[in-house]
Amino acid sequence: MQVIFLGLPGAGKGTQAASITDEFHIPHIATGDIFRAAIKEKTMLGEEVKSYLDQGLLVPDELTIKIVRERLLQPDAAHGFLLDGFPRTIAQAEALDKMLEEERLPLTNVLYLEVSEEELHHRLTGRRVCSKCGASYHVTLNPPKVQDVCDRCGSPLIQREDDRPEAVRVRLRENLGRTGDLAKYYDDRGLLTRIKGENPIGDVYEDIRQALRRQAE
Ligand code: ADP
Ligand code: AMP
Repeated sequence: MQVIFLGLPGAGKGTQAASITDEFHIPHIATGDIFRAAIKEKTMLGEEVKSYLDQGLLVPDELTIKIVRERLLQPDAAHGFLLDGFPRTIAQAEALDKMLEEERLPLTNVLYLEVSEEELHHRLTGRRVCSKCGASYHVTLNPPKVQDVCDRCGSPLIQREDDRPEAVRVRLRENLGRTGDLAKYYDDRGLLTRIKGENPIGDVYEDIRQALRRQAE
């Protein structure tokens, strides 16, 4: 099962991916997570991408595509994967098509989590993430059981630098038109399923499961 979660920042991709990848036993490949891990580990890649992430700008296509190509060649991705946050541009989508053609791994489904801009702003500015495992919470919409502590691994929750209001505005602006273009790109290829991302987390999960099950039949 080769699946893409498409959606603007804050649409709920990471939240849903955590449960879906557990249930369907496929790796969760999130370009944002790869970049943040590289920044934390102070690798060369981290140095290269830090200023883009801090400002909420997209990392250049060439570099992003190279990272994804390397990741998809790892053995755990040979029998399926869930891509979250990639592709974010048409050039990335075209590069992905090429990679998957070479690997003979056709895309199964592109699930588009649709959420209004106003709601995204609210979700992103109230988001808290686990400093260790990356699990995503919200101060009011999806709070942890104990304030500022991760339910999954017990580590402290933090606010992402790019979830500050200024960076949120830039990120939404960077991604709005591009996400629409990508939805059209996959719709034209008969791969797009629209999911009502504003519904409660459990309902969104059920809709995604149903879409994936239909595909598997
Ligand atoms: P993305 O990975 O698409 O950027 P996240 O999964 O991190 O988005 O979700 C963004 C924020 O919205 C988080 O604070 C999360 O807890 C919250 N959230 C996710 N899905 C929903 C939902 N269906 N309803 C309300 N809040 C949600
Ligand atoms: P995310 O965790 O998906 O919100 O991504 C965080 C940041 O990582 C983005 O604001 C970009 O700076 C960078 N990023 C993640 N995925 C991509 C991508 N596919 N193309 C370019 N930049 C990306």
